[in-house]
Amino acid sequence: MLFPTDGHGWAELLEPRQPRPALVADKRVAWTVIGAGLTGLACARRLATLHPDQEILLLDARCVGQGASGRNSGFAVATSQFNGGFDPGQMENYRRVNRINRAGLDLLDAQVAANGIDCQWRRDGFIHTAVDQVALREYDFFRRYLEALEIDHVVLDAGDLQTRLGSSLYRAGIAIGDGALVQPAALVRGLADSLPANVRLHEQSPVLEIIDGQPLRLRLAAAMVTCDKVIVATNYEAPALGLLRRYLIGSTLAGSFTRVLTAAERASLGSLPEWGAISLHSGGATIRLTSDGRIKIRNTAEYHGARLLSDAELSARQATHRAGFEKRFPQLARVPFEYAWSGVEGITANGTNFFGRQRDNLYFAGGYNGSGVSRGTAFGTAIADYASGNTTPTVSDCLASVPGAWIPPRPLLDIGAFFKVRSRFKGVGRDR
Ligand SMILES: Cc1cc2nc3c(=O)[nH]c(=O)nc-3n(C[C@H](O)[C@H](O)[C@H](O)COP(=O)(O)OP(=O)(O)OC[C@H]3O[C@@H](n4cnc5c(N)ncnc54)[C@H](O)[C@@H]3O)c2cc1C
Repeated sequence: MLFPTDGHGWAELLEPRQPRPALVADKRVAWTVIGAGLTGLACARRLATLHPDQEILLLDARCVGQGASGRNSGFAVATSQFNGGFDPGQMENYRRVNRINRAGLDLLDAQVAANGIDCQWRRDGFIHTAVDQVALREYDFFRRYLEALEIDHVVLDAGDLQTRLGSSLYRAGIAIGDGALVQPAALVRGLADSLPANVRLHEQSPVLEIIDGQPLRLRLAAAMVTCDKVIVATNYEAPALGLLRRYLIGSTLAGSFTRVLTAAERASLGSLPEWGAISLHSGGATIRLTSDGRIKIRNTAEYHGARLLSDAELSARQATHRAGFEKRFPQLARVPFEYAWSGVEGITANGTNFFGRQRDNLYFAGGYNGSGVSRGTAFGTAIADYASGNTTPTVSDCLASVPGAWIPPRPLLDIGAFFKVRSRFKGVGRDR
């Protein structure tokens, strides 16, 4: 299948939703945004404000919420952690990335509030955790970085973490008060269902080809769209449209949810009613206690040709999820998993993003390496400004991103991609 999808994940925990109809008739518009994840939704929303008299066409190959934006772990970061050391020479770069994060976070915060989006949005931060050697080294780097940037944080020892999370596994942690936790599928659905009136969203409407020319033309299975400007917000699927080939690859992540915990089980999980714990090791687990009382754990990532996992593959990965869960919460060893899901994130060889013009009247923003909730929203908004000729502080910050690096061509591509994805687990130990 060209655009594989499945019913698994956070969307499975929500009520069924009626998708917007597919595009089946030719159209002539000024603007088209391809991809209705966080980047495309933010972009279409901003274009609608900038061009209130124009129709903004927003096309997605799948149903809203079925891309990475509806399948992620739901950590909307304010402060990025950079693995591999603290470099005082990078201070301006750190500040720039965090300005972008905060711009996206503030936008989401405002949109969730203004539109009353029911998505378990909770903006009081989360905890970065360390168990083994490599993560403990990252913990030292991260502390120096936070101190140098004067970012408020609270240092936690093993006892504090036991009290807060109900796990004796963790040896050190850092709580950062800014950043939000969210039910990601509910967030993107809410954003899609509250778009300005001049945005026309069509789901299950894959763009199969971008035909160069003035105007540009987009070929769909049952329609041709003619448009002046196109913003591509398709994440790791841009290469299928002829953009960024060998620059963006998909890494397939998977996780599981327990059933809803009983009151006694929740009481064994420490003092916080809801929390998110993110490993300081790039291959470590991200874990949440959701507001509806489930533990969610994600601790696998693999190169899988940018595909979701089959049901059989997912059940095989659950052994790893289970091991990560039980070593943290032996008191919950008998609590079964109720759901499992996978999702594909767009990654680059050097961990950076793409923002800007690709060709005449064709723009792209994406590739956030597992950190695209806040950043995708900021990039999506900024690319709308940039394509409209506006300069904003966030546009300048996004333009200053070092573009993703080239990945060698086939047959080495898959091998290179395989090792790139696997490298995140180096020395992960008990953080997984
Ligand atoms: C399991 C997992 C956990 C993650 N956890 C986090 C986290 O906790 N915090 C964080 O910040 N980030 C996280 N990420 C990364 C984050 O989800 C992504 O960076 C972000 O959602 C990317 O948004 P996007 O809109 O650019 O892309 P997507 O959400 O992938 O949206 C792209 C859209 O384009 C559509 N599309 C593709 N090709 C076409 C086409 N030809 N025609 C029409 N439509 C097309 C797709 O169907 C898709 O809906 C995670 C990712 C995964 C997979």
